[in-house]
Amino acid sequence: MKRLCQVVLANASRHFDREWTYVVPEPLRESIDIGSVVYVPFGTRKTPSRGFVTRFLPELPDQYDEEKIRDISALLSDRPAVTEEQVKLAFEMKRRYYCTVGDALDTMVPPTVLSVGDRRVKAARLVDMDEATELLDSGDLRSLKQVRVIELLLEHEEASCIEIRQAADVSQGVLNTLAKNGVIEFLQRTVSRKLPEELEEVEPADAFEATEAQRKAIEEIDDAAYAATPGELNEFLLHGVTGSGKTEVYLQVADHVLSRGRQVLILVPEIALTPQMTRRLVARFGERVAILHSRLTPAGRYETWQRILAQEIPIVVGARSAVFAPLKNIGLIVVDEEQESSYKAETKPRYYAVDIARIRAMMNGAVLVLGSATPQVSSYWRAKNGFSTLLNLPERISDAGMADVEVIDMRAEYARGNLSIFSERLTRELFYTIERGEQAMILLNRRGFSRTIVCRSCGWQMRCPFCDIALTSHRNPYGGEAKLPNRMVCHLCERLARVPKYCPECSSEEIMALGAGTQQVEEEINKQLPHAKILRMDLDTTRGRFSHKEILDAFERHEADVLVGTQMIAKGHDFHNVTLSAILSADQLLGAGEFRASEQAFQLMTQVAGRAGRGLKKGRVIIQAVQPDHFVVKAAAKQDYDAFYREEIIFRNRMAYLPFGHIGMAQLKGFDRYETEDVARAFQREVAALIDQYGGTFSNTILTDASPAPVERIRSRYRYRVMVRDESAENLTRLLFMAADRLKRPKGVSLAIDIDPWTTL
Ligand code: ADP
Ligand code: ZN
Ligand code: ZN
Repeated sequence: MKRLCQVVLANASRHFDREWTYVVPEPLRESIDIGSVVYVPFGTRKTPSRGFVTRFLPELPDQYDEEKIRDISALLSDRPAVTEEQVKLAFEMKRRYYCTVGDALDTMVPPTVLSVGDRRVKAARLVDMDEATELLDSGDLRSLKQVRVIELLLEHEEASCIEIRQAADVSQGVLNTLAKNGVIEFLQRTVSRKLPEELEEVEPADAFEATEAQRKAIEEIDDAAYAATPGELNEFLLHGVTGSGKTEVYLQVADHVLSRGRQVLILVPEIALTPQMTRRLVARFGERVAILHSRLTPAGRYETWQRILAQEIPIVVGARSAVFAPLKNIGLIVVDEEQESSYKAETKPRYYAVDIARIRAMMNGAVLVLGSATPQVSSYWRAKNGFSTLLNLPERISDAGMADVEVIDMRAEYARGNLSIFSERLTRELFYTIERGEQAMILLNRRGFSRTIVCRSCGWQMRCPFCDIALTSHRNPYGGEAKLPNRMVCHLCERLARVPKYCPECSSEEIMALGAGTQQVEEEINKQLPHAKILRMDLDTTRGRFSHKEILDAFERHEADVLVGTQMIAKGHDFHNVTLSAILSADQLLGAGEFRASEQAFQLMTQVAGRAGRGLKKGRVIIQAVQPDHFVVKAAAKQDYDAFYREEIIFRNRMAYLPFGHIGMAQLKGFDRYETEDVARAFQREVAALIDQYGGTFSNTILTDASPAPVERIRSRYRYRVMVRDESAENLTRLLFMAADRLKRPKGVSLAIDIDPWTTL
């Protein structure tokens, strides 16, 4: 009998996304396997289509006629590109995310691995990053495809053409046009056997003798790792402030897991921001570690992947996409800083790496360890309710102690006639800090995208009565002009509300909009302290891959006294000369207009407090707020996670937010405003029709009208969305996928579906 196998196509639409049956030709019998990349004839297409072998069939299904089944045309390589586990994982991803099995598999594998195994690859990069950025922002580009290519290259600097074509879903023609117009240039890269980025020289280091708390955590995880079997979930939440010894726990457990011949996968939010972690891994485990970072060249990515696939490297560390590393016998998966939004992919397929880590841990019979100083409320809830095991590291290893946190009541400042965004106390502290030759960091919310309305006399903040999140105004890209918007909107239910003239709480007229941008803060410092040297770090100053690090390095070399920036500056780096950190307006964080606002505000405030005072000199943190009594501000000032959690979980429960309920967001993007809006409306109608049709199942589902996103237009594309809420995530997924599959959507409008999005802006 002929050998039969099933294949999924790499570039199928969802309609054609299923397993198709083919005959394995005699000459390929020995070298083909599950996970092999093959080329197959499909329909009436002239050239064979790329696909992945998903399984072999023991016999022909009844309804098939053997004569009609076609042969596989070609095999890409003797080695499969993915493992059997990854094939299974891809089917699971299709169930959870709006994508095809092929999309999922293509996301897991570096594109160079999928290309014909030639040794030289053609790569491309931008001729001038700044010009490219300007081009994007100018809105002159009329081709979505060109936009995608430029965005990709801004992020990765250089990539092989195959990678670009695949990741941006464009043809070579698009690249050629961009090259002809002088936007990108081509170059040749050789795929070599040796790893292009040699590991940095690191002195080998031994394990520390574990503290009592560490020992307890290590033992519990070890026991679970020893007993774990596939199909069951063994999850831990390791809760401990920065410096409490979490990393040491990971390393020691990793060592034990390795010694039993199993493998270790470690995820970090961003490799470039976590140099300590990679250094310590290399110091402890030397060449057994592979570091998957986005700066690897195409050749580097290819070789590293092949060596992991060949099971030559037992420890893999990397950011989000490293969760797909093709290890076959994982005993431990660590997700460090589990609260970070970078674990959520914002391009298709919009997976959440922590979910994938959970699935893989179960498939492999591995333990999953999530670590954080400020876990997500939903993760803490899991631990409190028996879905995972809570482990605590209550104290810092060194007695560097915590910084002093001081909350400044901005209502009192206004009452005294100080209308600036700096309290007198902060101005004075800034002055003395600089006098002493020390440095300061000033933090702001993300680019002042949104503004929030507060009463500066009593601290009242304008919130949606139905969703209990802060109302925000639509985007004002440069933030902070003094003028009051007329109307505010709720990002979740889209209800509009008029900004009152008098405060509903205290009847004063002191209603104001908060929303200073980094630029405005820089100007203000200039005014108050003309001698201060200032560095600014926000999205505007950190386009391109290295500028980010350059700014931080310059600050570390003390080329400036003050660093002003968004939450980015709170991460990673230890600046030993920074003795003052300030959060200009806690209200702005709390007014972010998302249900996670409190959680993220608490995380940022705690992170800043934990960071200041790590050096030899004692640190000071100043938090300014018109709501100094808000539970988040009070808990953060005391660095009391439990106090924060106790209140927040009540709010989540009352409002049916995560983990008690789910939000689904369908986002439509296109160049043409009216077309995009039309499609969004049509989508909303499909959802409404399905809710009607299925009645009971969706009786508690809440559907909102199609509406423009708060940031209505980004890089020339208009953005509309439809929000749906339900207690069950499965319900939401089913509903939105069905509606999406039914929707007639023109080519110019793209659709993305997100369950529990990290941002609704
Ligand atoms: P976290 O990951 O929670 O921030 P780390 O594991 O990085 O904590 O530990 C903080 C510091 O304490 C590091 O410099 C580390 O080298 C050191 N350290 C960790 N565990 C021990 C230990 N058991 N004995 C001595 N020093 C330790
Ligand atoms: Zn008031
Ligand atoms: Zn609302």
